[in-house]
Amino acid sequence: MLKNDPLEQWDRDTFLHPSTHWADFARGKAVHRIISSGEGSHIVDREGKRLLDAFAGLYCVNVGYGRTEIADAIAAQAKELAYYHSYVGHGTEASVTLAKMILDRAPDHMSRVYFGLGGSDANETNIKLIWYMNNILGRPEKKKIISRWRGYHGSGLMSGSLTGLAAFHNAFDLPLVPILHTEAPYYYRRPDVSMSEEAFSAYCASELEKMILKEGPETIAAFWGEPVLGTGGIVPPPKGYWAAIQEVLNKYDILLVADEVVTGFGRLGSMFGSEHYGMKPDIITIAKGLTSAYAPLSGSIVSKKVWAALEQGTDEMGPIGHGWTYSAHPIGAAAGVANLKLVDDLGLLENAATVGAHLRKAMSDAIGDHPNVGDIRGEGMLCAVELVSDRETRAGWDDQKPAVTAVARLLADGVIGRAMPHSDTIGFAPPLCLTKAEAEEVAEKTAKAIKGTFGS
Ligand code: PLP
Repeated sequence: MLKNDPLEQWDRDTFLHPSTHWADFARGKAVHRIISSGEGSHIVDREGKRLLDAFAGLYCVNVGYGRTEIADAIAAQAKELAYYHSYVGHGTEASVTLAKMILDRAPDHMSRVYFGLGGSDANETNIKLIWYMNNILGRPEKKKIISRWRGYHGSGLMSGSLTGLAAFHNAFDLPLVPILHTEAPYYYRRPDVSMSEEAFSAYCASELEKMILKEGPETIAAFWGEPVLGTGGIVPPPKGYWAAIQEVLNKYDILLVADEVVTGFGRLGSMFGSEHYGMKPDIITIAKGLTSAYAPLSGSIVSKKVWAALEQGTDEMGPIGHGWTYSAHPIGAAAGVANLKLVDDLGLLENAATVGAHLRKAMSDAIGDHPNVGDIRGEGMLCAVELVSDRETRAGWDDQKPAVTAVARLLADGVIGRAMPHSDTIGFAPPLCLTKAEAEEVAEKTAKAIKGTFGS
């Protein structure tokens, strides 16, 4: 550990960090932290402080830190062949093997996978494939896309437009025109408290149908959704939501894109959120859990129906005019192969289901009746604690963010949670290998942090 070196100054003088208050950071007013190492569910910062990472980085280090099986696979690939492109039919053993492994795990009606680098570019790819498909099918007017308020689908121009969070639009001239947003399936914030979960699901589906009819069904190409809303507050869907939405989409011949960047490969205790909720997507977006973030890699898994149009398209128009230099990068692919094997070998789907349920139960036991805890929710290895100023009215605060204070207290106590950016919610998405004892530590320290924030 070097304390007298200029690293902090270099950081503040040179580095534009994502989702950071750039002015405060440059002036030395916002937090600067260098992370040095990690093992299992813990990371260690440069000051030597060991932290239980109950957000798995950005809900991505699913197998946990320090897995030598993946590190060795990456090293072996880098030594043998660090790069070759995947254009015009090229590939590597790792990329072809990974495509097969993904399809073996994906729902039966899926057919092919296109590889990208991250979730945002995968969603850009998906929009292009859907527009291409509708042009090939002779319906060029069917191009608009509906996503949900509170949805998160990335930070690119189109993926940032799909995202339904104001901070990703303001001053960026987003959303772009062909993207529309409908009601979020946020049961705790339903418009009428007397609504049952099923009634609220029917309401969300009817709001979607109204939007489709207003715009004209012949203009709507696709509907985008995360099986469980992630960055928008970690919100599982109310009962019957996906069945009700799917019915509307089928009625108007609208494609469903399941953005499984967070939920893919085990986070919900199932291989995919689509199977978990009985969704039948036409495209599935994957990233994070594909490599557990040991190397950047994403993918778009297309269904047999989409593949049929793409096959027809290239027959009519020649090779597809879409590609990234780093599509199917061999190092990402090698990490993906080793990672998916580990997910199986370690039984992480089962662990996510059982320890995730244990975490939510421990959280409810510890703070379920606290006057400022409005809702404790989640699914699989996801948990959210929503803070309110009044449990009866579910009112929040206009100008303060107690979740930010509570998360800072939690961090000081050695646990990383996340103040979700658009509500007073503390989010947890630990590595899928979290132990029951670690889950209990997260709950106990969260309770302490919340009680400290509110004075009791
Ligand atoms: N989709 C979802 C559901 C996400 O949660 C994220 C990132 O958190 C993305 C897309 C964007 O992925 P990336 O940050 O890798 O571009």
